Amino acid sequence: MDFKSIKEIKTHLLKRKISIFELNEFFIDKIKKSKINAFIFFDEDLIRKRCKELDSIKNDLPLKGIPIGVKDLFCTKGIKTTAGSKILQNFVPTYESFVTNKLNNSGSVMIGKTNLDEFAMGSSTTTSYYGDTINPIATDKNLVPGGSSGGSAAAVSANLCLGATGTDTGGSIRQPASFCGVVGIKPTYGLCSRWGIIAFASSLDQAGIFSNNVEDASILLKEIAGYDKNDSTSSDITIPNYFKKINENIEGKVIGIPKEYDLPNIPDEIKIVWEKARKKLEKGGAKIINISLKHTKYALPTYYIIAPAEASSNLARYDGVRYGYRSKSQNNLEEMYESTRSEGFGNEVKRRILIGTYVLSAGYYDAYYIKAQKVRKLISNDFNDAFKECDAILTPTTPSPAFQIGQKEDDPIKMYLNDIFTVPASLAGIPGISIPFGKSKDNLPLGIQILSKHFNEQVLFDLGLFLEKNNE
Ligand code: GLN
Repeated sequence: MDFKSIKEIKTHLLKRKISIFELNEFFIDKIKKSKINAFIFFDEDLIRKRCKELDSIKNDLPLKGIPIGVKDLFCTKGIKTTAGSKILQNFVPTYESFVTNKLNNSGSVMIGKTNLDEFAMGSSTTTSYYGDTINPIATDKNLVPGGSSGGSAAAVSANLCLGATGTDTGGSIRQPASFCGVVGIKPTYGLCSRWGIIAFASSLDQAGIFSNNVEDASILLKEIAGYDKNDSTSSDITIPNYFKKINENIEGKVIGIPKEYDLPNIPDEIKIVWEKARKKLEKGGAKIINISLKHTKYALPTYYIIAPAEASSNLARYDGVRYGYRSKSQNNLEEMYESTRSEGFGNEVKRRILIGTYVLSAGYYDAYYIKAQKVRKLISNDFNDAFKECDAILTPTTPSPAFQIGQKEDDPIKMYLNDIFTVPASLAGIPGISIPFGKSKDNLPLGIQILSKHFNEQVLFDLGLFLEKNNE
């Protein structure tokens, strides 16, 4: 029996070839034996209790019994939620996030809380207070799983669960999906509610899904999407049945290749795979056209103004007063704030708070923050214009395969460059998927990214399924 496909497991469960208990014991056992530090929280008794509860429900549910990992950025009622930070090491939410609540109502089993870069800031899952996650693809090579949702990507890749949630602010689902050889989708901003997700950069944060294949991603996305009155940016659209509608016949689809993504310093192994995907799509009947996204080169600097600005504001709440870590060294209130924040946050988070505070300060607000907002609009307009000519855009997901743990730690800019292909879509709020496609020269997985206009996740699944089936 294949333990990698939700679609298949669902039929096995329905035909009673396997029970919910057996299925979850398989994953409990695998998690206990695994050595990649994919989970921050894992409680086997809680899983068994949940299985019992589900077993007593007689009617079928869309994800009944399916083990799902949850990024430890989603608040889970009564279960510690750390955001990978020391400052939230003892934080137990009193409520459930919208997305995980939906997953629970769909009958899934929350198999554990997955590791991440502290407050989802990073591309390596090496800034977590709870240790590094190791990429399961080649454990002897000590590679990063990508980040920030590295624990989720690694858990799915190592077959420790059948799917996992992630969040993507600038690439945190697509980049780790690419590094770990799994499917990762960042939906349109507003498709999945942010309520109960610990905020990083609110105008960019978006929940999404990791899975072993495209069809599973289409099944899972439907379960986490939907309108929520508690999130003022949540969209009130009818959620399509992506899985039912999925169609790998791509004939006549117009695919745009943005010339600005063809950067001179991108390694050949990435360009070769990009070219290969292009040819496959063409062979399948798609029409390939060249497009221009003129302002692409400003995307990374724009992101690294807007995201830290919002982060500095969102993270002001961690002051040691209401919840979370409080420093013991304190003689007065001011000192308490200071020592709590300097002891509770790691270096990358501090760096973002400093940048964000700087670009929002009175003398620099117009020069940096307002300017970045204007450029963001131009980037977004580029995409709108492009989608007048094409149905989807094809790019590499990352400029390299997974790198070694510790490799880019000395220079934050090197780390930020990981997001060069993912950040533009985040700024525009459009959806993007990363599909495992091809291999690097060292036989590591690579990802191909497909982008579409707002709320056209269906075309991502359609083209994704085609590439998945044509990835020899
Ligand atoms: N790597 C990017 C950053 O560090 C994106 C993170 C994310 O999408 N959460 O900000």
